[in-house]
Order: sequence, then structure tokens, then C-alpha cells
Amino acid sequence: MVARVIPVEDFDLIIFGGTGDLARRKILPGLFRRFLSSQMPSQSRIIGAARSDIDSQGFRDMIRDAIKEFGGEESKDSKGLEAFLAQLEYVPIDAKGEGGWADLAKLVRSDVVQAFYFSVAPSLFGDLAERLHRHEIAKSNSRIVVEKPFGRDLESARKLNAVLALHFDESQIYRIDHYLGKETVQNLMAVRFGNVLFEPLWNNHYVDHIQITVAETVSVGGRGAYYDKSGAMRDMVQNHLMQLLCLIAMEPPSQFGADEVRDEKLKVIRALEPIEPHHLVRGQYDANADGPSYREDAENPRSFTESFIAMKCHISNWRWSGVPFYLRTGKRMKARASEIAVVFKPLGHSIFEGQDEQQNILSIRLQPNEGMDLQVTIKEPGPGGMRLVNVPLDMTFAEALGDTDVEVTDAYERLIMDVIRGNQTLFMRGDEVEAAWSWTDPIIAGWEARNDVPKTYDAGSSGPDDALMLLHRDGRKWRDIKG
Ligand code: NAD
Repeated sequence: MVARVIPVEDFDLIIFGGTGDLARRKILPGLFRRFLSSQMPSQSRIIGAARSDIDSQGFRDMIRDAIKEFGGEESKDSKGLEAFLAQLEYVPIDAKGEGGWADLAKLVRSDVVQAFYFSVAPSLFGDLAERLHRHEIAKSNSRIVVEKPFGRDLESARKLNAVLALHFDESQIYRIDHYLGKETVQNLMAVRFGNVLFEPLWNNHYVDHIQITVAETVSVGGRGAYYDKSGAMRDMVQNHLMQLLCLIAMEPPSQFGADEVRDEKLKVIRALEPIEPHHLVRGQYDANADGPSYREDAENPRSFTESFIAMKCHISNWRWSGVPFYLRTGKRMKARASEIAVVFKPLGHSIFEGQDEQQNILSIRLQPNEGMDLQVTIKEPGPGGMRLVNVPLDMTFAEALGDTDVEVTDAYERLIMDVIRGNQTLFMRGDEVEAAWSWTDPIIAGWEARNDVPKTYDAGSSGPDDALMLLHRDGRKWRDIKG
């Protein structure tokens, strides 16, 4: 089966920060892939707007290099690449001054979809929003896309929301969390809400617990000083892990619409109980032969910031009462792997004597090898009697769908196309972000008040031993982190 590509409407996409790391590594290579798959109309334009004093040709040269470096196999299509680059323009602009705005105003077309991607530091969001408005570039149906971090606490998130709300309606604001753009995350919703089989089991009668792991092998080296002001809770849990938890735990929305889905996610965040201090483990990686310690990377020998966090959460509602959600994320772990695992309860009674206890597990892998499988128990084939064995049932159905033809779309490119289509379902609403900070802030304030010192853990491991104990104490264990 060939993936269906539906071209979007004609658009002008203006990327503020178009010369930055995110634009060069993710946004433009992603757009190039959409171009190659004919999703981008041939008259649409991508306009870079940043501080660098270059012209459109200089920008095209820069993006050619970026796509060759980060664009994968597709970048070898040099004819396609040149055709894509021809749709690029550039305007040097000063977000805090007046330089460049008149030029941008002349360039942007008013009769097509306009999207402004704020791929710059959040401290510039207000300046950009105000100038887009004052120079009459943005229209009442223009869209703006903003990146994480969306604040560092409730107060700063509220300020950012307020500054954007001065010039843009909530229906125009697209807050990106690229985890929501992953194919498997959307497949999770299809599996949950498109089948009769799962929803009846999706509650505290049948689910024993849920694990969400986002493990990275990289250190914070290179951006250590920046990371040290944030830490794993702010950098990963408040946004990515929280979003995954919401999609797993939410009630079925009345329809797959932006507000219906986001209303249900918001209810989950609001139902999260505060975290008990003994249900929380923070860690910092130690030095090893492959690299320095967290504190060395952060250039802060007395840092108390966590590069790892594990926690046990509870959601106070009828569906999930008594079901723990174990979350963990960290840097310099044994493998790069992100997974949600729904671990079902063991059988109430087994008729098969002498066999190990079997549990069904639905695992949703976000990386590497995005996919979903359901661990089921079957009879071990052969004449050895009734011996049971657990096998994974592949639910990505690559064979049935003919995987060679199915395009793997990167999260960024999918989300940008959703912006052009005006579909906000996979973007965070302002109240969701604020609710997430309302839950996160007291947890951080709690450990700060206790002067909690993160435990060190071996680089290349699964995190501190205390994190293993968090589950062992409950008679459970973390799933192996496999790359
Ligand atoms: P960067 O420092 O590499 O690039 C910043 C860009 O902003 C440059 O193009 C620069 O010219 C432009 N800029 C800076 N000051 C300006 C001004 N006064 N006027 C006009 N343009 C100005 O940053 P980045 O890594 O690309 O990140 C951009 C945003 O995306 C940040 O908010 C960051 O937190 C977020 N983000 C980045 C990544 C990533 O992987 N790089 C991932 C997630 C979120």
C-alpha cells in the first residue's frame, strides 16, 4: 500500500531563526521531504528570517549544506534539492529592532496560508508577535508555531501565553511537542479508539501499571550550562512525558477534533496527584572513559540539577485509581530508547500448572524503530507438551501494509503540514501547558526546599539504583532499555 499524500494549500512559511540549529537540522530537511513527496505546492515559499546578514542565495547555499548533512538518503536527489531550494527566500531581520520588517511585509503574500515559525529563543516571542502585528504582516487567520521550552514554570508560561494572546487568538497558536507528531503516538490513538478490543481493558480492572521511558545516550555536553538551569523534569517530563501520559490515560474524546482531544488531555493533567518525595528519584551521571560527569559537563561542581528522573504517578479518577504510572527519563543511559508499556494484570487463575506467570504487555516504541507490539502467550510450538511462551505480536503490520512503500514521515514534517492545514489536534493548548506547570512547580519546589541531592549513576546504565528500587518495592520491574 502506498502512503497517500494529500497536497496542502498554497502557503508562505516564514521561519524566524531560519539559520539556527533547529531549522537546519529538522525543519528544512523535513520540508524538503514533504516537497519531494509532492505535498508542497510548487508556488509555496519558505522564507528564512534571522539575524545573519545574508541574501536569499546565501540562505539557499546554507540550507543545501544542511540538507546534505541532515537530510538522509533523499538529499542525494540533487535535481529535487535544487528545485526545493528555488522556493526559498531570505530576509535579514532584527526581532528587537525595525531592520528587515518592511522587506518582510513586501514579501509575504496575503492571499495564501501564512505560517510564522518562531524558531528562536522564547524571550523573542513577544517582540516577533508585536512586530508582525504592527507591520500588518500577520492576518487574523495567520498561524504561529512556537517551540519548547514553553516557560520554565507556571509564571513564565503564563507570561508567554499572555504575550502571544495580545496579538494572536488561541486558534492561531501551534505549540509544538514533536513527540505528538510521531507515527506511533497517533497509531496508539487509532488502536485505542478504533478497535473494540482494547478500550474495555483500558482501566484499573485489567491494567497493572504503565511505564513511560525516554532514555537518551547523549550527555548534556555542549549545552551543559543551559541545561543546568533546567534539568530533566523541566526539559522532558513537563512536556514530552506528560503528553504521552495524557494520550495513554485520557478518556475517549467525543470526536478526533482539536479541542475534544485537548479537553480530555487537560482533565488527565488536572487529575494527577502530587508526587510523594519517596516516589521520586533524581540522578546525575558519573564520569567514565567515554566522557565527563554531569557536573563537569554543566561546568557547575555543586550542581543539584538532575540529568535523570524517575517517578511514580497516580491519576485520581475512576479509570486509573490504584494504577501506578512509572515515568523515567535521563541522559547518558545505556541505549537511546523511548517506549510506553501498558502492562496488564496477570491471569487471575492459570489452568497451566507449573508455568511461569504470564502478563500481556502492549509496548509502543517511539524510537528507535517506531512500532507497536502486543506480548501474548501461546503454546511453544512442537511436541514438548503444553509449554507456554510469550511472543510479541507485531501491531505495525509492516507486511500487511507493504512497508517498502510506506513513507516514514518525521514528526516535524508531519506537524508543519498540520499547521498549514490548520489542524491543532497534535499541538498543546495554552491551558494544557499551564496545567502541566501547575503540577510540576510544587514538585520542583519540594526538592529545592529539601535540598535534595541527585544520586550519581553510571554513565551507560539504567539510572541510579534507587530508581530500580522504586519498582522493586512494588514487586515490579522496569523494562529493559533496548536500543
Ligand atoms: P540557535 O541559537 O541555533 O538559532 C537561533 C536563531 O535565532 C538564529 O537563526 C538567529 O539568527 C536567530 N536570532 C537570534 N536573535 C535574533 C534576533 N534578535 N532577531 C532575529 N533573529 C534572531 O537556536 P536553535 O537551537 O535553532 O533553537 C531555536 C528555538 O527552538 C529555541 O527556542 C530552542 O529552545 C528551540 N528548540 C531547539 C531544539 C534544537 O534541537 N535545536 C529542539 C527543541 C527546541
